[in-house]
Amino acid sequence: MSVAQQLQTLKNSLPESVTLIAVSKTKPNSLILEAYETGHRDFGENKVQELTNKFEQLPKDIKWHMIGHLQRNKVKYIVPFVHLIHSVDSKRLLDEIQKQAQKINKQVAILLQVHIAKEASKFGLDQEELEEVLKLKKQYTHIAFKGLMGMATFTEDTEAIRAEFSFIKTLYDKHLGSWEVDPILSIGMSSDYQIAIDCGSNMVRIGSAIFGHR
Ligand SMILES: *Cc1c(COP(=O)(O)O)cnc(C)c1O
Repeated sequence: MSVAQQLQTLKNSLPESVTLIAVSKTKPNSLILEAYETGHRDFGENKVQELTNKFEQLPKDIKWHMIGHLQRNKVKYIVPFVHLIHSVDSKRLLDEIQKQAQKINKQVAILLQVHIAKEASKFGLDQEELEEVLKLKKQYTHIAFKGLMGMATFTEDTEAIRAEFSFIKTLYDKHLGSWEVDPILSIGMSSDYQIAIDCGSNMVRIGSAIFGHR
């Protein structure tokens, strides 16, 4: 199947309440345009350099999602155009986003990334850090806290994945009063999005199931 067909098939299978982010990292502009031509507008990238290059080269009505680990010194390059930053994992990063957003008088939408996987290599706040950061929410006048993002452990054990997604859903619900209108729970990738949707996801980030293996 072509990229356009994979995308359409996948979209038709998702509940209407779930927004699909087409993760286009490492993929050429030609394939992104093929997806774009079907009417799709939400794309995700995990590296700042690749994201800014693609932003410059591709149609300006694309909504770009930053889904990868973000270094503070690179925040300034994406703040002017990014649609949503999924991977905010520290107070220091929030401070930098606030600073850069204030400079250009923009409201930047973010998700707080929660560490739910067993792998220590994955990023994210633990529950205590999440709660500390949310207590400071008022000071971030130029940041819209939209919700949470998480990545489950890479495993075949679907019950373990389900437990991790259920845990982040509990945190998301617990803090529902903190999220801006149209709150977002960004969980689910190619291998586990069905479990994520069962657990309450309303945004999935899918790459290889659309564009093929990287
Ligand atoms: C690459 C990536 C995805 C998509 O992964 P696939 O397995 O290709 O669907 C989703 N989220 C993040 C944070 C990623 O880096």
